[in-house]
Amino acid sequence: MGNINTHKTLILNSTFQPLSLATPKRALSLLLNKKINVLKESNVKLRSIEKSVIIPKVAVLTYYVKAPYSRRVALNRENIFIRDSFNCQYCGKEAESIDHVIPKSKGGSHEWNNVVACCKKCNLLKADKLLSKTVLNLKKIPSIPEGNFWIKTIIGNNPDPDWKEYLVTQ
Ligand SMILES: [Zn+2]
Repeated sequence: MGNINTHKTLILNSTFQPLSLATPKRALSLLLNKKINVLKESNVKLRSIEKSVIIPKVAVLTYYVKAPYSRRVALNRENIFIRDSFNCQYCGKEAESIDHVIPKSKGGSHEWNNVVACCKKCNLLKADKLLSKTVLNLKKIPSIPEGNFWIKTIIGNNPDPDWKEYLVTQ
């Protein structure tokens, strides 16, 4: 039996684009209301009123969800790290903090195109200076995450291997 406390069902939109993760309880409710079709079963069972139901690992909605309720990616430390693949954008080492490319003290804004993940060492080198006054160079110009990026912020960095084939970004 799978662990019911950690089990999550990957829910795809009717267009097969990844949409969200559902708890077993939520997945059961969607199933009983015929709102999803199972694409892949799990080994987690939940007992409903009359029968026990196998909770899906992956399911597709029978209807199209238009509201992109979670698609605006919040500008926070975690999401900046995800966008920058947890790598320092100056040297490529493991990122430990966030740097404002144009320092806030020099009028830089807290926006996607002015923040990068960076390591402690580069952060110290950079300090409160403009990039041109340091030996550092940006690996790429920071930008607003696009496309299906938001799904990464939902599923995290270690998605269930069974989801993989359904997480291909389109
Ligand atoms: Zn660095």
